Amino acid sequence: MLETICEVLEDAYKRNWITSRDGNVSIRHHDRDHFYITPSGVRKQTLQPDQFKKIKIVSPIMWEEQFYTDISANLKPSGEIPLHFGLQRALGQHNNDVRVVVHVHPTYCVAAMHAGIDLSTVVKDFPELSRYTRVAKNVPDVPPISQELADQCHKNLWLQKDGTIAFDIVGIKGHGVVAIDTSPWRAYEHIERLEHICKIVLASGITK
Ligand SMILES: [Zn+2]
Repeated sequence: MLETICEVLEDAYKRNWITSRDGNVSIRHHDRDHFYITPSGVRKQTLQPDQFKKIKIVSPIMWEEQFYTDISANLKPSGEIPLHFGLQRALGQHNNDVRVVVHVHPTYCVAAMHAGIDLSTVVKDFPELSRYTRVAKNVPDVPPISQELADQCHKNLWLQKDGTIAFDIVGIKGHGVVAIDTSPWRAYEHIERLEHICKIVLASGITK
């Protein structure tokens, strides 16, 4: 699935959901005590599976890098690792499956939040969105790659100690979104769905 994550990021780049070095993704299989995360500072449109970082879950509050490949040994894990670690240390409803966490900066989602829209409210006017995607309340302005960003995202996703989450996607004001599901393309679809609705809302000019 690392190859699929590369494809997802290449597609996100083509859609202008990220610039070259933005965006990060992690993946964990339920029966493994480690997860893989994209490296920091590399160009995501040409990302390769052997560049991923392998992260061992030592305890609920501790992780450590493990050797994966020679290429990845020279790279650092994404700066958003606190966000990913919190969501990967316990898998909740994905306990017998895979959990993929995707963070990107989709244009219309970010524009809608900038215009003062809480993404969790658009479902009222566009109910089809909620058939497949549960949208959390926006996280307010928080510094990128901070523990605060991680904590606020976890809180708004209603992340529990056992890893259960109540939502599929959360927006971070002035920044981007985080989507979670059992495969890279499924997580991507939550973003795509919300992005499509935000585009419609902004095209209508009615933001309140
Ligand atoms: Zn970001």
